[in-house]
Amino acid sequence: MTELGARELQTSLLRGDDLAARLRAQVREARHRLTNLAGKPPALVTLAMDASPAARAYRRSIERTMFEVEIEHRSVDLPTDAEDADLLSTLSHLGSDPHITGVLVLMPLPPHIDIGVVYEHLAPIKDVDGVTPVNAGRLHLGLPCLAPSTPNGGLALLDHFGIPIEGRRAVVVGRSNVVGRPLAALLQRRNATVTVCHSATDDLAHFTRQGDIVALAVGKPAFLTAEMVSPGATVLDFGINVIGGRVVGDADFPNLLGVAGAITPVPGGTGPITALMLARNTIAAGIAGLHGDLDYVPLPEEWI
Ligand code: NAP
Repeated sequence: MTELGARELQTSLLRGDDLAARLRAQVREARHRLTNLAGKPPALVTLAMDASPAARAYRRSIERTMFEVEIEHRSVDLPTDAEDADLLSTLSHLGSDPHITGVLVLMPLPPHIDIGVVYEHLAPIKDVDGVTPVNAGRLHLGLPCLAPSTPNGGLALLDHFGIPIEGRRAVVVGRSNVVGRPLAALLQRRNATVTVCHSATDDLAHFTRQGDIVALAVGKPAFLTAEMVSPGATVLDFGINVIGGRVVGDADFPNLLGVAGAITPVPGGTGPITALMLARNTIAAGIAGLHGDLDYVPLPEEWI
């Protein structure tokens, strides 16, 4: 297609607000059912060791969301100079506390802390952001699991707007354990044909142009340009970059309008969904916790 032809496309904006309202109602309702079944309300702990501005902002957004869906939120803070052993004992304590349903460890951890402490000592059944090897492994094996909120929310957004996944070519740029890698696994579980690109990918545009869905989790503003996508492709932008006080994604948003078939705006696209997926995972963890078994985590279709 000529560039002029490509510019004739009408790009749909995949805004998160509508889905967010639906998720809020869904989680509130599930929260009441879980409270009746468990005989106690669900509670989420965010555990922080580093008061970085990004972590503080994320915690505030979680706090706000949990308030809206009536899930109790507790902040636990360890001093920045605490040791691995302190983190280990806090995680063990939270793991055995029957009043705590879910635990999220806010990143980044101070450099002297071994991330392996989180992987090994965060109880998988309370691991609401799916970071432990048990949940990550179950995700890759296609077993019920607590999947990371950000990529899970991206898929929920595609479903909400009726964008097909099965049989589509999905190109994921970024392979972090919190976004790119689990997103690729989730897309593959939904029968997309998935390519994962990263900083060592040669000729990135060659791959992104093949994507019916191009997902971005890179952390670089205006990274995906109009020339890098096929006309009509869906762009799922997870990037959060602050430029002169303004938040932008990883896509060259203005220039992708008229080329992409659909795109998530930043802010307002994938962002509003993440904390709600965390709330939904907290309920899911509560349901699995009733049985003491991750096999009881509800499947995505069971939420509809
Ligand atoms: P990350 O851990 O820094 O990972 C970035 C990924 O991008 C890496 O896999 C890296 O490749 C890849 N990359 C970097 N430069 C590249 C290049 N030139 N070409 C191709 N790939 C390249 O970041 P993250 O935690 O996944 O976060 C990514 C973005 O998503 C950030 O903007 C972050 O703020 C945002 N985020 C959003 C949410 C949300 O709720 N929407 C949640 C979490 C994060 P290598 O693996 O080779 O280094």
